[in-house]
Amino acid sequence: MKGRYRIEDCLFCKIINGEIPSDKVYEDEEILAFNDINPAAPVHVLVIPKKHIINVNDLKNEDEALIGRIFAKIPQIAEIKGIKEAGYRVITNCGKDSGQEVMHLHFHIIGGKVLGDKIVG
Ligand code: 5GP
Ligand code: ZN
Repeated sequence: MKGRYRIEDCLFCKIINGEIPSDKVYEDEEILAFNDINPAAPVHVLVIPKKHIINVNDLKNEDEALIGRIFAKIPQIAEIKGIKEAGYRVITNCGKDSGQEVMHLHFHIIGGKVLGDKIVG
């Protein structure tokens, strides 16, 4: 299976099923949010669907409502972390040129400091 992606090797699926521990911020039946292990800012949370979706290129029509619910949850998670009013950035990487490392859809919530005006490194 060289070069092929295998769901059973997915790091975030292992976090979802508890095989790998995480510092949880929020969880419900279809969404998990946890602190990034290597934070880029004082607040850095990853929000993921429990359904294994690779990235935004892998979204199907049937995922529309799920993505809507994830986005509706993001300000609530920002509030839990105390950065909702100050503001924050939401980023999702997709594919090789973006540097996506984990092939399970995730939204970075980054904040807790003034982030500056650059979103492209
Ligand atoms: P990407 O580059 O794919 O958009 O982001 C992957 C993120 O996952 C990185 O910010 C990285 O620090 C984070 N990450 C990688 N492995 C782990 C882990 O085992 N636990 C947690 N909490 N975050 C991880
Ligand atoms: Zn996965």
